[in-house]
Amino acid sequence: MNKSREDAVNQARPATQAVRGGYRHTAEMEHSEALFMTSSYVFDSAADAAATFSGDQEGNVYSRYTNPTVQAFEARLALLEGGEACAATSSGMAAIFSVCMAFLKSGDHLVSSRSIFGSTNVVFNRYLERFGVTTTYVDPKDVSAWEAAIQPNTRLMFLETPSNPLSEVTDLDAVSAIAREANALLVVDNCFCTPALQRPLEQGADIVIHSATKFIDGQGRALGGAVVGREEHINEIVSFLRSAGPSMSPFNAWIFLKGLETLNLRMKQHCANAQALAEWLEQQPAVTKVHYLGLPSHPQHDLAKRQQSGFGGVLSFVVKGGQEAAWSVIDATRILSITANLGDTKTTITHPYTTTHGRVDEATKETAGIVPGLIRIAVGLEDVEDMKDDLARGLNALS
Ligand SMILES: *Cc1c(COP(=O)(O)O)cnc(C)c1O
Repeated sequence: MNKSREDAVNQARPATQAVRGGYRHTAEMEHSEALFMTSSYVFDSAADAAATFSGDQEGNVYSRYTNPTVQAFEARLALLEGGEACAATSSGMAAIFSVCMAFLKSGDHLVSSRSIFGSTNVVFNRYLERFGVTTTYVDPKDVSAWEAAIQPNTRLMFLETPSNPLSEVTDLDAVSAIAREANALLVVDNCFCTPALQRPLEQGADIVIHSATKFIDGQGRALGGAVVGREEHINEIVSFLRSAGPSMSPFNAWIFLKGLETLNLRMKQHCANAQALAEWLEQQPAVTKVHYLGLPSHPQHDLAKRQQSGFGGVLSFVVKGGQEAAWSVIDATRILSITANLGDTKTTITHPYTTTHGRVDEATKETAGIVPGLIRIAVGLEDVEDMKDDLARGLNALS
């Protein structure tokens, strides 16, 4: 790709950048992005090797440091998130852990949403705690709670919006203002929306992290993650990754790079299917509550409308009759996959109370709204009428 073609793509709209951004073809002039499955690289001479190792000369040394396929994925995702730079990681958790290792030290304090991915909780409580980093958890919806939790040593603020599985939304403009005032970094896990629906950096976040495993792959094939933000911050992440090693596999990077090309289209359909299913669920006599941001009945519908360009592919609902009823609805399905994964073409159904939140204590589940009758659905790309038929079997048996 020559310079003028590259500039044109860099200034194009996101849907164009998703298809064409971040990649320079090789001397072979391939049209589709090449996959560089190589752990190391060769040099023309000893002097060449020395100059590359010392950094005097640009070039690849080893794929824990750089790999052209991984770099193409990083460049494309950075464009889509509107960030200066991106560092790819071996998983979403590796992205989160790398941010912690790059920016926190003993004695620091972290303010986190209480509604975060379970393994993120474990990293904060079991590991950061051991190294003298303390965490205060807050209700992600409550702006004043974020403000009240700030301490003089608060270095980082962490959240997911919308949250899983209840779709709670954090006001990014308001919380990023609090972070700026406190001189803390605001880190947003943008896994549920992806840049197709939400660009937190434009709303004041300092760092966006991803589990590419979910919607970016979109077909449930590979694990990966990413950190996006300003160059000064990403350099710190890269430095940690190079030494500690949770780098992304080139094969997985190739999957994610191609996944980004269909991301906009897929997210539109995930949203449309989720909206249709949520509206239908709201009509079912056995359903007492539906949590989906696209429903006007959701208390944060207006905020989501302002902050996101779509309402996402994940919804949850509560059935009459508690855990027994929820399990019977799940067990009556014949098409939906019973698994906790999400962001796949295949619709998944799960019982948060006994799976994703199974190890969370009762009081926390209670305040977080994880009730025994709650069912979560990550809506895929099948015909939504078949999803309704599949759920109707179990729901009709309840009422
Ligand atoms: C899955 C997930 C993660 C962790 O990602 P992995 O790729 O599984 O390590 C982090 N945050 C959210 C919101 C997730 O859904």
